[in-house]
Amino acid sequence: MENIFEEKINLGISACMYGAKVRYNGKGNDILGYLKREKGDFFWTPVCPEVMSGLGVPRTAIRLVGGNGFDFWKGDSQVKNRAGKNVSGMIKAGTLSCFETLKRVDIDAFIYMEGSPTCGIHRTTLRKESLGKPPGVFGALLLKEQIFLIPALDLQSPLRWWDWKRRLVAFIWLKRKDIESSSEFIQCWDILKVLSQEIDEENTKKIDDRVKAFSDETTLEELKKMQIDILDILRTPSSTEKIKKWLWKNYIFLKDTYNLEVEKVCDPEYLRGVTHVASEILEVELKARKMKKLFRSSPINYIPKR
Ligand code: SF4
Repeated sequence: MENIFEEKINLGISACMYGAKVRYNGKGNDILGYLKREKGDFFWTPVCPEVMSGLGVPRTAIRLVGGNGFDFWKGDSQVKNRAGKNVSGMIKAGTLSCFETLKRVDIDAFIYMEGSPTCGIHRTTLRKESLGKPPGVFGALLLKEQIFLIPALDLQSPLRWWDWKRRLVAFIWLKRKDIESSSEFIQCWDILKVLSQEIDEENTKKIDDRVKAFSDETTLEELKKMQIDILDILRTPSSTEKIKKWLWKNYIFLKDTYNLEVEKVCDPEYLRGVTHVASEILEVELKARKMKKLFRSSPINYIPKR
């Protein structure tokens, strides 16, 4: 089975993180500047639910009142502006319109601005002492649809972005697979298992035990369910410690088995910054791909067609 993904990935993004000056105070942030040339590896669809609501720029800041974004869609909370005006109807229309746009484009993932009452996922305010009422109104819709979600600020860190990208590519590669037999499932699992183990050892072991118990009675339904379980693991970020540990293990395997040598790779105990770790990883990745060997920390090779 080929571990290559060539389809260009479709990403939605909060427009204020794409450089559009659409925040309530007329500001925006070009977060994609951190990706440099890599930006061209994706299709981008920026959306701003608050602007699409017709609230304008600049506008009076808004907040959720009486509950979070899930409650909003049930009619149990409202969105009001600082002057106390209820703008729930406008927000609902703007949010649904952006959501329809993303569905039309068939996005693979969404990069969200954290801390917004609309786009936020884990917080709906930027005030340090409070999380607000997460998720936001748009965030709740994205969560309900199980969209792969990436916090925009993680694009600033080369290591965090690498972690998101390798999991995103693996996620889409697996999601697109129409698995029709247990042997096909095993082939996919063999490619993804080590990455899954890095992210979530406990649930990887559970999947592995189920794979070992495969028999003629294993149904397609069971395989599909296990496929979803792996996808859920791939949504979860790793940590610097885990990345370093598994980079070392996977590198040593490549070195011992195929003589793949990269001078700058350090053992996990060696103290160094995340930028250095990111550059070690990228070198191993590059070399492994040149040698056509599977680098299990980043198992799917993304070669988008231009
Ligand atoms: S966080 Fe979302 S709603 Fe707010 S300005 Fe950015 S894109 Fe618009």
